[in-house]
Amino acid sequence: MLTDKERKAEILRILREKKEVTVKELSHIFGVSAMTIYRDIRELEREGEVKRKHGSVILNTVENKETIPIKSCPICEKPITRSHPYKIIVEGSKIVEACCEHCGLMLHRNYAEKNVSALTYDFITEKPINALDAYYVVGSSAVPCCSPSVIPFINKDDAEKFSKGFGGKVLNFIDAYNEIINRMNINIKSCCSPQQPVSFVLKDLNKKDKE
Ligand SMILES: [Zn+2]
Ligand SMILES: [Zn+2]
Repeated sequence: MLTDKERKAEILRILREKKEVTVKELSHIFGVSAMTIYRDIRELEREGEVKRKHGSVILNTVENKETIPIKSCPICEKPITRSHPYKIIVEGSKIVEACCEHCGLMLHRNYAEKNVSALTYDFITEKPINALDAYYVVGSSAVPCCSPSVIPFINKDDAEKFSKGFGGKVLNFIDAYNEIINRMNINIKSCCSPQQPVSFVLKDLNKKDKE
């Protein structure tokens, strides 16, 4: 049985040979679950080694790189490197992006009084999903970006499967939001964003209050 580190090195070696490989093939090669491979790939993606393309994985080489100007996350100021960052659409027009779901949830606090919708991407399929309807695994051992990590799933079963393997709690949007805000308030007393009430409910997100 390989360690996580050995498996990731091996994935990179395979990619240098084959150029492109699917999650299914990798899970077969290593005899581990697809969830484990998804976690490895996310970590390699964060390290800038690989990127995902239509269900398979390729090396993040110069010729595979897209030339998109790099924005930085409004919460943690890290460059936004994910191809599908967390998006908040404010009052139907302005889009703000965060490096990951962790910062995305933190960012909602800045717009708690506005009418917003939000978009995230399923951890498994990378399909866009309504962030307010997603399930999140909060605080697992997989940390693709900021900690405590927040990993989105369209499907509650997948979220539960994931948390069985890697720990963390399965929460809906509001509970995940409150969990992150509470944990960050405990961790960093002098947080950069202005203090707002810790709990708010979904209807507040959608209320059309233009006072
Ligand atoms: Zn961030
Ligand atoms: Zn992040």
